[in-house]
Amino acid sequence: MPRRRLLAALLAVASMAAVASAAPITPTDGPVTASRDHAAQPDADAFDALAALLDRGGLAAATPDQARDHLARLRRLLPPGDPRRDLRYRYLACGAERSDARSTIALATRGIADARTLEDTHAQVRFLYCRAGARASVAPPDQTLGDWEAGLAMARANRDWRLVADGLVGRGHMRSLAGEHARALNDFLTAQQLYRTTGHDALARENALNLGIAYRRMGDLEEARTQVRLALDEATQRDDWGTRFNALLQLGYLYEDLDQLAHAQATYEQALNLAPRGQARSPAGAARLALGGVLIARDQHATALETLDQAERELAGTTDTGRSGLLRMRRGQALAGLGRQDEALREYEAAERLMEQQDNDRYLAMLLPARAEALEASGQTDRALAEYRRFIQLEGKLLGDSARQRAMAMRHRFDARRRELDTQRLLADTALKRQELDALVQARRWQWLALALGVVLVLVLSVRLLRQLSRTRRLRSLATTDALTGVANRRAIDQAGSAMFATASTGDIALSVLMLDIDHFKQINDVHGHLAGDEVLRRVAAACQGALRKDDRLGRFGGEEFIAVLPCTAVTPATQVAERLRLAVQAIDLDDIAAGLQVTASVGVATRRRDDADFATLVDRADQALYRAKAGGRNRVERDGLPG
Ligand code: GH3
Ligand code: MG
Ligand code: MG
Repeated sequence: MPRRRLLAALLAVASMAAVASAAPITPTDGPVTASRDHAAQPDADAFDALAALLDRGGLAAATPDQARDHLARLRRLLPPGDPRRDLRYRYLACGAERSDARSTIALATRGIADARTLEDTHAQVRFLYCRAGARASVAPPDQTLGDWEAGLAMARANRDWRLVADGLVGRGHMRSLAGEHARALNDFLTAQQLYRTTGHDALARENALNLGIAYRRMGDLEEARTQVRLALDEATQRDDWGTRFNALLQLGYLYEDLDQLAHAQATYEQALNLAPRGQARSPAGAARLALGGVLIARDQHATALETLDQAERELAGTTDTGRSGLLRMRRGQALAGLGRQDEALREYEAAERLMEQQDNDRYLAMLLPARAEALEASGQTDRALAEYRRFIQLEGKLLGDSARQRAMAMRHRFDARRRELDTQRLLADTALKRQELDALVQARRWQWLALALGVVLVLVLSVRLLRQLSRTRRLRSLATTDALTGVANRRAIDQAGSAMFATASTGDIALSVLMLDIDHFKQINDVHGHLAGDEVLRRVAAACQGALRKDDRLGRFGGEEFIAVLPCTAVTPATQVAERLRLAVQAIDLDDIAAGLQVTASVGVATRRRDDADFATLVDRADQALYRAKAGGRNRVERDGLPG
């Protein structure tokens, strides 16, 4: 039975205080300036900045003097009449308060009530943790579990994972103290995961010490040593004396468990050298208590007793019953080793009372055989036998517990591995589904793209087609239209006329042609210019078009000559139309070109005869009629074959 495990409680309480006050500062946080700036004024922003820094671990890594300085400065920065910041100051101060458990408990209880009034759940959780941490040193573990559980539930509801992890660490310590090592380990492992996933790597590295303790108590010394060394290296690197000190004590216990007593002693001495940095007497006392244990194991009882006496002086005033019980037992062992059995028995009795207050079977299992030996040595064989019986019973229970714990731990670890595999499979499944979905989306995207391209192609082709059509139409109209006047050109009117002539011939239907020539047009050009002449041509064409009927076709024959083809029109109505044209031309207003300018036209009319060979023959006869109109004095209509 490794007797040296007794000091574990010491570590647990020290670690718990560290948890309650948050973690050591991380290297990336930068140093908390240990300011002695007494001129600091109330300043909300400066308060928040310092509080955040302390919250991330500045207080735990600080020495007590530094912590006091930080808190004093925070107090000075606290704006008056700001209840929320006041709460924040109070829970930070509460966590840092380590000397007087009872006043800390009172402080935390008031804080819980005030936080509830202000509906500040974060603060409420912090005060619950603070109270649980303070209670741990004066009450059995099961009396502090309620606060840890309540705080944990609230932190979980708030999804405040850092606080959940802190709560798990606190609860883990309590479970560990209560001998539930497997469940403690589970809490520490879960906390570790939370610290890592929320980016609190420094806290995770510090939590390695808790894992180390849990593994050691489970008997997994290899894993314990790995974790403790991790925490020790980390703390040394960051110069976090508190964690370093605790890790050294833990390493010492491990050496004791491995029966490497010289190594254990050297490690405790190292811790002792470090203790003054704690700026309190109790760390030295704790280290010396551990040292006393190993000295007893090495049969150096006198030195052990001296060491323990000094430890007692150094631990005076602290209220940790667990540690007091251990001290009494160690003194008893040293005294017994020196043959002072009566004094030893008195110490053992005192130790038992303290241990029973703590309900600590592990300590008791160390005490009982020691006391049995002392009773035996002082000749009280019956009582010694009774003590041995009690020990065997307790040891049996502890062994059973231990086996159960190990089985549980195995199951927890198995469960954790299974959960991890489940998660991995889930992630893989999700990734696969995601890939399939991505492929589907991709395919859909291509489909849409193809569709869109198709639509664009159709649009482009349509636009091109329409453009082509309009160009063709324009070209065709250019080919058939006279550019100046907009009426059909010579070729177009010849074609249309020929077609109409063919139709008329086939059906023996009347068809007439009017040939119109502007009178003395040359003069207009000569007197008013060529551009004025062009304008006159345009207006004459428009006037003629306006005077014709719907089915009649007008064309420019050349120069200032126009030709109109009148389907289904006999000579008399054709002559009437010709007269209308003549009058329309005469009526054109040209005052805007030149005041008083007028224009007239002569018109020749010809109607189809059966012996007409083609359209050109008809046109020729109209031309002859026109000639006669010109000869007859102009501005007149002449019919083919008839005198005017
Ligand atoms: P008449 O009464 O005998 O027909 O006399 P006229 O002057 O009208 O006849 P002529 O054949 O002597 O002159 C026709 C003129 O028309 C000659 C030509 O310069 C002009 N002309 C022909 N085409 C155009 C044109 O597109 N624009 C203009 N401004 N003048 C044109
Ligand atoms: Mg002419
Ligand atoms: Mg003319």
